[in-house]
Amino acid sequence: MDNSESKSVTSMSRTLGKEAQKNNILAAKIVADIVKTTLGPKGMDKMLVDSSGNVTITNDGVTILEEMELDHPAAKIIVDIAKSQEQEVGDGTTTVAILAGSLLENAEKLIDRKIHPTMIIKGYKKAAEKSREILHALSLDVESRETLKKIAMTSMTGKGSEGNKEYFAELIVSAIDRIADKKTINLENIKITKIQGSRIEKSELVSGIVLDKERAHVDMPSSVKDARVLLLDVPLEIHSPETESRLSISTPEQLQNFLDAEQNTLKSLVDSIALSQAQVVFCQKGIDDVAQYYLAQNKIMAFRRIPRSDMERISKATNAKIISNINEIRPTSLGQADVDEVKHSNESFTYITSNNTKVATILLHGTTQHLIDEIERSLKDGLGVVASAVREGKIVVGGGSIEIALSLKLREYARTLQGKEQLAVEEFANALEKIPETLAENAGLDSIEVISELKRRHSSGNKFDGLNLLTDRIENCLDAGIVEPLKVKTQAIDAATEVATLLLRVDDVLVAKTHNPVNEDPLSGMD
Ligand code: ADP
Ligand code: MG
Repeated sequence: MDNSESKSVTSMSRTLGKEAQKNNILAAKIVADIVKTTLGPKGMDKMLVDSSGNVTITNDGVTILEEMELDHPAAKIIVDIAKSQEQEVGDGTTTVAILAGSLLENAEKLIDRKIHPTMIIKGYKKAAEKSREILHALSLDVESRETLKKIAMTSMTGKGSEGNKEYFAELIVSAIDRIADKKTINLENIKITKIQGSRIEKSELVSGIVLDKERAHVDMPSSVKDARVLLLDVPLEIHSPETESRLSISTPEQLQNFLDAEQNTLKSLVDSIALSQAQVVFCQKGIDDVAQYYLAQNKIMAFRRIPRSDMERISKATNAKIISNINEIRPTSLGQADVDEVKHSNESFTYITSNNTKVATILLHGTTQHLIDEIERSLKDGLGVVASAVREGKIVVGGGSIEIALSLKLREYARTLQGKEQLAVEEFANALEKIPETLAENAGLDSIEVISELKRRHSSGNKFDGLNLLTDRIENCLDAGIVEPLKVKTQAIDAATEVATLLLRVDDVLVAKTHNPVNEDPLSGMD
């Protein structure tokens, strides 16, 4: 264990023992420190500039971590758990990074007291398992639509959408309502379409899909009510000869014949479509100018180069099948919807709507691109938390309340354990306090005072007390409507424990020479 040294093997750099451990812990702490200042409603934003000079201003943990393009292997692992938190729950990415950092920081204290990492790992795993049980016991049922709105608002507090969070909470809950099939919610069925130009308050929920596309040809109809919709994933064009095969054309007549043949093929493709009685065509691939002309002549509205994800949403919204062979179009392949092209601040959008569809679009208006992008990120968090809350039906109280309640219960549990394991569980409990501590710090409050007051209140039975940063007071945060899905917390604790134990198990880091050696600056590659 104590053989900390760094060696260079011919093609590898190597860091061993304690030094490897310390180095990983340091990297994790630095990552946690970077995102820490964004936690909670009073958290600050970060301005990120990528290598080509693009600027992103955000408060979103996972976006910051992704954009930083960290090189250190331990730092990368933290970024990965933040990403998986984003995928699983859609929120809590800063929380998970902070927790992982503080679990490792506290493990280091134990290592310094000569406690072997395997003991710490064992204790942490027990603590994580117990946490799940305690969190379930402390959770409450989602009672109403109002609860769901509160969850959405809590996740948007302090984000780009703050000023309109009530409005967006309503949009989010209605969107989830529309697409939910009992407790099954596929967030892919909600599209967010961004429109730059007008004010945020013009944002709305559309039942169906809104594409930022215009019809392929101006002579096509711009609106078809109750249209028969055809979805194609084959191109309505003939590939240019140079990519397909070589032709030897030596006379103008041969060329003319060739072009005529091409036109005929396109015409007969369009004839087949017209014969199917389709009125609107969405094509995943290209549509040749000639085909566009014939389609327009047949009064068929057509759209080209629709992304696959939208093709699938349109299929879901209209009940149309995605067809790969024009000869296989049957009447049952076609779907039904109103299709309208609409202009918003000089840009064309296409609405594909129908009343009883399980697909929805949030049309997000905003004056600047930065603002719209940041609101989109917070809407996605809101959609994620509401979806989790509907699926699991359970919530916990935020504002640091649940973390304090959990850490007190874990300390009780620690007392039932022996020796070193007990110490590890206690350090796990301490690590949880980092969340309320950070919430307080970011609001410029005295975190030591806040934590001790919270503990005092919880010990005397006020188990929903937390730090309400809308009033800057310690109060019942359930009554204040600061609630989060249970899943955000269980997932964050599981994931943070997983990385912490993973990194504690490492005592040998081997890095191929092409990479920056890890025993130098843990954040090398950040610039
Ligand atoms: P994350 O990326 O982890 O979701 P956020 O910046 O969204 O980070 O902050 C989430 C934290 O903010 C949670 O612990 C939540 O309970 C807390 N929080 C949300 N609203 C309030 C509020 N009004 N007062 C205090 N804390 C709040
Ligand atoms: Mg959040």
